[in-house]
Amino acid sequence: MRDRITRDDFARMIAGAVALIRAQHAMLSQLDCASGDGDHGATMLRAVERLETCFAVGGPEDLKTCLSEAGWSVLGVDGGASSSLLGTMFSGMADSPACGAGLCAGDLAAIFESGLAAVRKQTKAQPGDKTLMDALVPAVAAMRAAADGGKSVPEALHEAALAARAGAEATQNFVARYGRAKFLGEKTRGHQDPGATSMSLLFEGFHKGLEESKGESGNG
Ligand code: ADP
Ligand code: MG
Repeated sequence: MRDRITRDDFARMIAGAVALIRAQHAMLSQLDCASGDGDHGATMLRAVERLETCFAVGGPEDLKTCLSEAGWSVLGVDGGASSSLLGTMFSGMADSPACGAGLCAGDLAAIFESGLAAVRKQTKAQPGDKTLMDALVPAVAAMRAAADGGKSVPEALHEAALAARAGAEATQNFVARYGRAKFLGEKTRGHQDPGATSMSLLFEGFHKGLEESKGESGNG
């Protein structure tokens, strides 16, 4: 089991996330039809295509620059609330001093904590408010707990993905308090939040992307 991951491993995490959003974007837009304007899948597709470009082979070699460019690029997607929050998250991740050449699980947790801190400056939404925070907050907490418990990066990402999924599924029980969906109030109960769902797919993709690359680098 590798102890530290590189910028190229991070690029594999991104590739895993891109693949899942690409496969599921129609479902994401469908969810947004129930609680919003039906564009969430299309917006997420544009956002992850920009992530893909920023982490492509031949792009910046250091993680901080990749994350920073990814943040700005996603912020430039003309897509409303979710692309703005996701771009902010990546920009915030780039601000972490933990961005380095080889990341242990604790470094990765610190990077995602920095991303979450940036998102928190943009929205006051908390878990329970039926937004992407319902997936992001528990995912980052699970990653931190795994890292502090001595788990490896793939294990920490797996725990984060499971927590994100549970958080996204729980949104079915909630009434939306933020974004377009809040205007539908009680009518949003029973529907899973699109942004929480895509956030959960991102974390699932991060884990899958890293796991599927095992063996390719010879030290996985
Ligand atoms: P828009 O609502 O602008 O059309 P999207 O459809 O792409 O944007 O994304 C909707 C998702 O964005 C929601 O499901 C929710 O998870 C998230 N979202 C919207 N507004 C907020 C907010 N103020 N804080 C946190 N998340 C939000
Ligand atoms: Mg929408």
